[in-house]
Order: sequence, then C-alpha cells, then structure tokens
Amino acid sequence: MTRVVYDPSQIDFDAAGKHHYQVAFHLDSTWGYSLVPLTVINGLRGSASTSVVAFGGTHGNEYEGQVAVKRLCQDLDPATMHGRVILIPQLSETACVANLRVSPQDRVNMNRAFPGNPSGTISYQISHFVKTRIFPQVQVVLDIHSGGNEAIFPICTSFHPISDPRQRAEIATVAQLFDTPFVFLYSSQMASGLLTDEAEAMGKVTIGGEFGYAESTNRKGTLHAYEGVKNVLKHYGILEGDIVKIDPGRPTPPRFVQAVNLEDYIPCPRNGVWEPTVDIGVDVKEGDLLGRLHDFSDHASSALEIRAHRSGPLSMLYFGAVCKKGSTLYVISQDVKL
Ligand SMILES: [Zn+2]
Repeated sequence: MTRVVYDPSQIDFDAAGKHHYQVAFHLDSTWGYSLVPLTVINGLRGSASTSVVAFGGTHGNEYEGQVAVKRLCQDLDPATMHGRVILIPQLSETACVANLRVSPQDRVNMNRAFPGNPSGTISYQISHFVKTRIFPQVQVVLDIHSGGNEAIFPICTSFHPISDPRQRAEIATVAQLFDTPFVFLYSSQMASGLLTDEAEAMGKVTIGGEFGYAESTNRKGTLHAYEGVKNVLKHYGILEGDIVKIDPGRPTPPRFVQAVNLEDYIPCPRNGVWEPTVDIGVDVKEGDLLGRLHDFSDHASSALEIRAHRSGPLSMLYFGAVCKKGSTLYVISQDVKL
C-alpha cells in the first residue's frame, strides 16, 4: 500500500516496518501534483546508531540510481534489519517522467536547487523538503548519479574536498563500499546548490557518484549502486552480514583520484563534431591525442587535435558528437592518497 501525503508532516519516520509514500507537491501551472516516491523502513530488530537516505533520479535522465533504489524499496526486509533507511528513487519525479535532466515544470536542475525555498517553484519546494524533513532524520546521504546525455564517466563514487578530517575519513571509507573502479574528488567550484553540498555542510557523511552514462541503465553501474547501498547499510549495522566485494573480477580496491581545480575541466575550444580517440578511465600521457574536433563547414579542413594537457587517468569525456565551444570536453585527474 502506498499512501499519498499532502503535508510532509504526515510522514511517520518512526513507524516500525516498511511504509511507502507518495509525497504530493502541487504543480505550479496545472491542477495536478508531482508525486515523489518515498519509502521509510524501520527495522524490527531494534535500533542502529546511524540512519541512511539513498536518492535516485535527482536528475531525471540518469537511471542506475532510480532502478537500484526502487529495487531496494522492494527487496529490503524490515524483519531482518536494525535502524532506519529512507529511499527516494525519483527525487525530481517530473524530470524522471520526462527523461530530462531538469524538471520540465520549472526548468530547474534539482541538483542546483539547494537549500530550496518553500514558496519557490516545485524543484525548490522539493529541495527544501529534503533539507528540512529528510536530512534531519539521517547521518548518511547517498545520491546516485550518472552522465545523462552530457558526459561519459568511469563508474565512480565521488565527493568534494572536505576540511573536517573526521568527516572526510568516514566519507572516504563509505565511498569505497561501492567497490567502483574509481573514487573521484571533484571541484566545489564547478557548481553550487548541489544536494551533496547541502548535506556536506550539515556535517553528513555524503556520497555522490557517476554510475553510467548515455541515458541508459548500465548493468555494472546498477550493480555497484544496488550492492553499494547494501554494503553501506551493513557498515552501519542496519543490515546484517558481511560487506561484499561487488566486482570480484577487479582485484584492486577503488582508486582515489582528484580534479579539484577548474583548470582540470578543459573547455571545448570551438564548435565542432567531437571524435574521441581514447576510452574513459585509461591513463593518458601529456601530449596524447584524446580526440579530434571536426568543422564540416569546410570538409577539406584538417581536424583540430585535442591533446592531453597533462598525464593522469581520464575521468570525464564529453558524450555527444555535437560539441559547443565552452562545454567541458574532458577531465584528467591525478592520483591522491587520503
Ligand atoms: Zn546527475
């Protein structure tokens, strides 16, 4: 049974067992609602010291998190659990339904809408709901993203540089529980108003990540997201059992890399058709050819060669063929020890 609530205060975060809700946010321009799916589970085996929330669909055209979190709404059994988990598989529900990065209702990017505004447009109302109603219930915040139609990433968990050493150490520990090939520390200057920015500022153990790309449901990415959240629940004693190695085919632990300065995010120098010549996640050397930009206004012209500005693992590539001047074309990161 799923219950529709029109006032978030009607959500019972303490009720024993598993309870499915749809949180109704009235649309600005029609007689209708965005019904944001939310499941609250309180384990029947007693309490746990830490509570966790997992989000999918903060961006609507990124599916690994939507699928993994929805499956967890079904699969997690409160009879075998301790403590509390909150699952929100489609946070920007209107964007998810529309297969868009941003909500078609207000054209707002949910992952730039924090801390939100209770009297703003729908995305701001939802982000305000998350900040004021969800974040106070939990100590751990997991927000599962992928590249949408903008970028190709190697499968990774991610977080910002964090100044507090205890918070940073616990975040690094939790980031590894997803057993992704990479853990990516990225620049806080790239954007503001992120869900994870807000959670980090509130002192939460906060993990983001990129689990696929191309508006698809990446098989491995979904596996890492689903089993990764379960590993986090085991780490905090919410689920019983041992933490599993998610990708037994890769003997190495997650590799920590960082690109924390805007200079690491290289813009496309001119409009063109982008032809990448390397695979994501490989180690490139300074001067290596990464791709070519073609100008079809003169098919006899030679392509502009894009070469690595330094050595390191390739952590992001522009996804589409048609690339506009100024779009981030690639990111080369550096290994980092935490
Ligand atoms: Zn995203």
